[in-house]
Formats: sequence, structure tokens, C-alpha cells
Amino acid sequence: MQSLDRFATAKLDALDKAALRRRLVATARDAFPWVIRDGRRLLSFSCNDYLGLSTHPAVKAAAIAATERYGVGAGASRLVTGNHPLYEALETRLASLKGTEAACVFGSGYLANIGVIGALVGLDDLILLDDLAHACLHAGARLSQARVMTFRHNDVTHAAALLEAHRGASRHVLVVTETVFSMDGDRAPIADLAALAQAHDAWLLSDDAHGFGVMPHDPAIAQVPLQMGTLSKAVGGYGGYLCASQPVIDLIKTRARSLIYSTGLPPASVAAALAALDVIAADPGLAGEPLRKARLFTAALGLPEAESPIVPLLLGPPEAALRASAVLAAEGFLVTAIRPPTVPPGTARLRFAFSAAHADSDIARLAEVITVRLADLFGAAAHRVAS
Ligand SMILES: *Cc1c(COP(=O)(O)O)cnc(C)c1O
Repeated sequence: MQSLDRFATAKLDALDKAALRRRLVATARDAFPWVIRDGRRLLSFSCNDYLGLSTHPAVKAAAIAATERYGVGAGASRLVTGNHPLYEALETRLASLKGTEAACVFGSGYLANIGVIGALVGLDDLILLDDLAHACLHAGARLSQARVMTFRHNDVTHAAALLEAHRGASRHVLVVTETVFSMDGDRAPIADLAALAQAHDAWLLSDDAHGFGVMPHDPAIAQVPLQMGTLSKAVGGYGGYLCASQPVIDLIKTRARSLIYSTGLPPASVAAALAALDVIAADPGLAGEPLRKARLFTAALGLPEAESPIVPLLLGPPEAALRASAVLAAEGFLVTAIRPPTVPPGTARLRFAFSAAHADSDIARLAEVITVRLADLFGAAAHRVAS
């Protein structure tokens, strides 16, 4: 065991030296957007709870009722005994929202991505991933044993060149992108990627983790045969999904290993997702609020207009991001520093996630504090964002 501890200690030392070590901090979520850390109440701009639904009374009530009726656990994987009746309602609803024939709910978005990719492609196939695709898309791609190549972020011309060079040697090709990029907040050119994929008989998978429930409908999405997403962000609870055609979903339900070999969701999570979708449907103005708030923020700081509820402020070295985060915490704001390998080296940043639960006045105050307290860092960052 000595070599094991020596190994762990040396790794930790190296991470500490590079300002890349991560630590878990106990954080109680109060009435959102408030959280409690070290006994202090902070206003969170780091939760992906874009609509504040994690604490919505109707959503909580649905979870409690499902727990009372069905218990806290699923008992087994969905294919064994864990497929309680709420799943069918949720999958029908997701498919109808996405305009697909069918849907499959997974334990989480991460589990969906690592299960779906490997069920569809393998040896002899090629996966083309956007450079900035989420870690679980990269993980799913690697697990699949297909050949994996990345194209420059949102660069359809580069993706086209890779397809032209490699399509012939590959049995099937999967092209993978995100509708809204999780750490940059920009959007993928879905229409162009869908047309490119169709022209090469490649299959397009879009990860809508940060778009579902908060972005206006993009008509181009109808051209995307594999629409993945999560129930853990705007929907407020936990779980992941794939929406696709009936045959694809039937195949996923019999082949995706992260569905077959992992326990079903707690019934409360499925019921909460259904209730959250009801809340979203009943309040047509709600979904647009996070983007409106993000645009208040970018306007106040003179940044390019936000494309989504996520706004990054690139600071470069990890130390700078940690320092900026500490300054904002001292002022009562929780904005977690995002460092490599979550983002590419040299692009450590503050990532602001805006929610319908934020008051406009909170955003004005945040922008004011950034202007005053982070003037030196912010000047450089604004320059970087603009160039
Ligand atoms: C958060 C996220 C996931 C994972 O979803 P979970 O439900 O949290 O496991 C997948 N893809 C992207 C782009 C994400 O941001």
C-alpha cells in the first residue's frame, strides 16, 4: 500500500503546484439562487438550475408523492424490475417535446452519453467530435472502440474535410456536438452540421444538456436523428435521455450498457421531471428568462451579447480564475472557477450561469462588483472575449 499512497500524494502535489487540484466544498442549497457555504449565504451564479425548478413546490410535491407510493429506490435496472410506470409517461412526454417517435430515459446525462454512443458505433466506425464536447461525450466515444477524431470547435468546414478524407474507410460515422456548449455558452451550427452529416450518410448526435427548457426552438433540430439531453439542469432534478426514432430507441433499450447494467432512477426523480415539464409548459414566459438575464449581464459589462444562459469570462491561468472567484465570494457571489482539464489549457475562467430565479437587480450588482473589484482582470478578459 505504500506505493499507492506515494503515488496519490505525488499526484496531489503536482496538481497543487499547477493550481489544478479540486476540492469538494459542502454547499447547502437554500431557496435558490441562494446557497450556504461555510455558514455564509451566497448568491449562486454556478448552478445549472436555470428555471429554479429544483426547489419548486409542485416539483417537490410530486417527488414526495412518488416516494410515498413507490419508495426511494428502483430495486433493479429498468430491464429487470426497475421500470416503474412513471417512465412511460416521461418518455412519451420527452419524445413529444422533441418531435421524435420515442425516447429512452437514463440514470443521468453522463450515463446516456456513454451508453448511447457505444450502442451505435464500434470497431470499423468513426466518431467526429467537436473539440469542446463535454467530457462524457469523449468518454462514450473512447469506450465505443470506434476511431475518434475531433474537429475544431464549431468549424463545419473542418468537419467536412475530415468526412471527405475518412468517410470511405469507415462503416458508420457519428458526428457529435452540443446545442449549447457547457463552458462557453455558444451554440453549434446545427443546420449546417445536419446537412453535412446527411450528405455523407453520417449520424448526428446533439447534446442539449444546456439548451433543453431554456433555448428557443431551433427548427433545424428536426434534422438531428439523435437528440440527447439531461433532466438535471433546467428540469431541476436528475436523469438523462435520448430522443430518436422508434427503431433506434428499441435498439438502445436492448443494447446500451449504462441502461442495462445500472439501477433505474428513484421514482421520485421521474415524477419530479414530469412535474417540472408541467411547470415549464404552464408558464410560456419562464423558459426565456435565463437568456434575458444573461443578456442584461453582457450588456452591463459591454461583452458580446449572450447566446445562451451561460457567459464565460476567460482569465487564462488557473490562479487568476481562483483569485477572481475568491474576490466574488467575499462580495457574496458564488461563481466557481473553471480550470483545465474541464476547459483547454490557458483558458481558465469564471463561468456565469443565469437563472430565472435571479433578480434583475442581482445581476446589476454582480456586474458592478466585477467592474469595480476585478477591473484589472476584467479589462484583459473583455479584450480576450472580443478578439
Ligand atoms: C452536464 C452535462 C452532461 C451530463 O449530464 P448529467 O445529467 O449531469 O450527468 C452531459 N453533457 C453536457 C454537455 C453537460 O453539460
